[in-house]
Amino acid sequence: MPLVKDEAIILSTRLFGESDKIVRFFTLSSGKLSGIAKGAKKSQKRFMNTLEPFNQVLIEYFEKATSSLVRIENADLEESNSGLELSFKRVCMASFFTEFVDKLTKEKQRNEHLFQTLKKILDSLKLVEFTTTDILYYELQMLRHLGYMLNLAACVHCGKALADVEKLYFSKERGGTLCTGCAHSVPHRQYPQGFIPHMLRLTETPMNSHAQSRGNSSSEHGEREGEAGYPRAGVPILDRMGREVLEDFVKFHLAVEFKSYRLLKSITG
Ligand SMILES: [Zn+2]
Repeated sequence: MPLVKDEAIILSTRLFGESDKIVRFFTLSSGKLSGIAKGAKKSQKRFMNTLEPFNQVLIEYFEKATSSLVRIENADLEESNSGLELSFKRVCMASFFTEFVDKLTKEKQRNEHLFQTLKKILDSLKLVEFTTTDILYYELQMLRHLGYMLNLAACVHCGKALADVEKLYFSKERGGTLCTGCAHSVPHRQYPQGFIPHMLRLTETPMNSHAQSRGNSSSEHGEREGEAGYPRAGVPILDRMGREVLEDFVKFHLAVEFKSYRLLKSITG
């Protein structure tokens, strides 16, 4: 098997035996992979601490015909995780998004958009802590790249276009909003007016208007300033509601629970 070179983000590592490491990493060209790095524990020189969670590396590996575990030959650091350690919150947020990618992707499934999104998240987190809005925004982005886009523009059951004021019902089973008529027959929960349009707006906002552009001057309380159409004080409440909706949605459709969800919730409120 030929040597493969690829960009990768380290998702997690664990020690294996006396001197090896098992590494899970998400690559640009081949999606998620697990590999063994021989001697990674003992020979710091060989991998120079590159195989650490959240690092972005240029990785070299061999695939093995007999095993799903690849053999990691080399890893050069492209972008270190330095900066994330500045706060516990940043580490929790980085853990949450890497776990999201790890749990919701299958091995060897290329997903370039998801890779770029995770890269952007880690780069941004080194500069600034995320607000709840940012977390929700990136969760929605990731779900979209995984093929789970919520239908928030029209009734998910009959397709009827809905005005913002009519969007009150959300069905996690169907993954979208319902008109009043369909709400009679389709299981759903009712939400305050403005919540579903708020979620829709987040899915439509371009990525660069979020965390990265806020730089270091961000508010730490999950409030965004100067954004037309948002009741300022209401946004954090809507965002928390949004994260709960997504948690339910992911649990229902993907049968996955995240270890880092609870921790993240406890630090972001
Ligand atoms: Zn309908």
